[in-house]
Amino acid sequence: MASTKGMEKDWYSVLGARPSDSPAQLKQKYQKLALLYHPDKQRGEVAAEQLTEGTQRFIEISQAWNILGNEETKNAYDLQRREIEMTRSIPVDTQIHIEEMLWDDDEESFSLPCRCGGRYILDETDLEQTSLVNCNSCSLIIEILQGER
Ligand SMILES: [Zn+2]
Repeated sequence: MASTKGMEKDWYSVLGARPSDSPAQLKQKYQKLALLYHPDKQRGEVAAEQLTEGTQRFIEISQAWNILGNEETKNAYDLQRREIEMTRSIPVDTQIHIEEMLWDDDEESFSLPCRCGGRYILDETDLEQTSLVNCNSCSLIIEILQGER
């Protein structure tokens, strides 16, 4: 299972770029920084301490480009980013264990009454894709917790 840990690094900001930048813009920004922080460029001109810092930056920039410079890995990274941003920006009203929801045989979905009188509805397909469920009549959101078993 993919972990969201280790995703703290924002590869776009490492390149001084934005997620909306085109591949050409990303490449331009990468090349500019790579040139600036390239270890060869720094030798002799700066103190040893700065050299290490610059080398660190260069490694980060290279890592960022490894991910963002490839369409496949960039798409995967963008997807992960969006998921994390969504989880961060959505105020989750409460957390519910899937066992606490009611299984509706007719509709083949789990449901839970909301305090507004509406319902949270979750079918099995949703269950595989998301853990956040919107009430069908107000803006409240619950997070579904699924056990390991
Ligand atoms: Zn509601």
